[in-house]
Amino acid sequence: MESPTIDLTETLQEMAGAAEAASGGGSLLSLQNILYVVAALLFIFGLKGLTHPRTAVRGNLISLGGMLLAMATAAVLDPHLWHGWMWWVFGGVAGLLVGLIAAKLVQMTAMPEMVALYNGSGGIASMFVAGAVFHHLTHIAGEPGTAQAADVMQMSAMHMAAVMDGGQPYQTFIATAVSGIIGAVTGSGSVLAFLKLRGKFGSAMTNPLLKFGNGGFLAIAAIFGILLVINPEWTWAYWALAIAALACGVFFVMPIGGADMPVVISLLNSYSGLAACATGFVINNTVLIVSGALVGASGLILSKIMCVAMNRSLTNVLFGVMADVGEAASADEVYAGKVKATSAEEVAMLLDGVQRVCVVPGYGMAVSQSQHVVRDIANELAKRDVEVSYGIHPVAGRMPGHMNVLLAEADVPYEQLHEMDTVNQYIEQVDVCIVLGANDVVNPDARENPKSPIAGMPIIDVDKARTCIVIKRSLSPGFAGIPNPLFAKDNTLMLFGDGKKALTELLDAIKEG
Ligand code: NAP
Repeated sequence: MESPTIDLTETLQEMAGAAEAASGGGSLLSLQNILYVVAALLFIFGLKGLTHPRTAVRGNLISLGGMLLAMATAAVLDPHLWHGWMWWVFGGVAGLLVGLIAAKLVQMTAMPEMVALYNGSGGIASMFVAGAVFHHLTHIAGEPGTAQAADVMQMSAMHMAAVMDGGQPYQTFIATAVSGIIGAVTGSGSVLAFLKLRGKFGSAMTNPLLKFGNGGFLAIAAIFGILLVINPEWTWAYWALAIAALACGVFFVMPIGGADMPVVISLLNSYSGLAACATGFVINNTVLIVSGALVGASGLILSKIMCVAMNRSLTNVLFGVMADVGEAASADEVYAGKVKATSAEEVAMLLDGVQRVCVVPGYGMAVSQSQHVVRDIANELAKRDVEVSYGIHPVAGRMPGHMNVLLAEADVPYEQLHEMDTVNQYIEQVDVCIVLGANDVVNPDARENPKSPIAGMPIIDVDKARTCIVIKRSLSPGFAGIPNPLFAKDNTLMLFGDGKKALTELLDAIKEG
């Protein structure tokens, strides 16, 4: 009796022949690949555009063009999709509608949750696509010559032709196992991350056994992956691998919470790209390989940037290890008798005659949607020859670039947006620093208190400005859940209230004064 691998090899060789015929001597395949490369180039130029607020919209449109080209190429030139085209159209239209509705309805502050769901969908889709292709391939091997096998053969022929170099299908099976593992980890991990961001699943769980669950299920998934490659006839091994990897995803995200969540979301985004890339190898689709690799790499770079901005090590986040945190002082200890409240009129008087003002926005600006009023105040001050800038912390708000997007929406000139390191160089010469709904990213404990849970996190040193006005509704903590000694500093005045309301009153007071 022949081994299953030999059966598969013969099947794939037949498919390669069919591919030759289906592609009209390969010209269709070449045209398809050329168009896929053009789409991939558009993705790369699109990503380049996204690196600066001024070119971000153009970058988005270029990437959209790349995606439409890739979809049209697949639909028109890929015989794989001619069979069951109605499913393709149905999936495309459904995806388009969900994307459009989500873009309209989802609030800016809920964007990380939406990204988590998108990552999860990408991971699960990769898992199922790789599983379906694997199932078809092994089915052909089991029953060569059947009508169904002939159908599947024709569908997969072009894709498999390139896999036949050397006659070994192993790379397809390895890619299948990789796609299944990463896709499943991404899927379940993202759903849990979504629930955590929604507040439906507690925060970080610190039981050390979780680490073993994470590693244990990953090892089980890897063992099933090896079995699958050695003996592809065992299709059940793929689904066993997927179940183990789904459990691994849950254990991966369970110990993570609080300020580490954005890193995890970004990391899962990277994983979803890697899963798509591996699926690209399974179905031999160039554009999926390239775009998956781009998402994988950019997600990893973003995770690294965020780790640096939050003083977390990527390795620790990757393995779900929390940094040793110290004791946070109680709010009473930090604030009792030291906080000074102010009014819009007092702040307007303070701003009269100053030379340099720096606005440091945070999550509260997003919640109160006060970006337009703050721009009006900056314009009013500029009329009085005051130099206004905005200090942007890399993880201010709830997603990378959150503040840039909001301020760009309010037509704040890009030249006025300064990164944290730049602001910290001149903050001591700033007469008045207006902290608008920011908390953790301006908490001097990160710099001064080695026992603080956020010790070492880079912050904007607003406490070093001559006067600091903090606009927020109360003394409530920010995302990290710890008190902020900034509010009790000698040079700090608290303007309590909703960001938009407080700024509107301030604008009126400046105009009156
Ligand atoms: P933050 O530390 O979360 O503090 C936001 C502050 O906004 C709160 O203290 C809150 O105080 C105030 N606020 C809420 N609603 C307001 C309103 N309507 N008007 C005025 N103020 C309002 O925000 P952050 O300084 O921007 O720091 C971001 C935090 O989120 C960091 O811990 C970061 O690690 C984490 N994070 C970042 C990202 C990212 O990628 N950017 C993603 C997820 C998490 P009151 O309730 O007293 O008003």
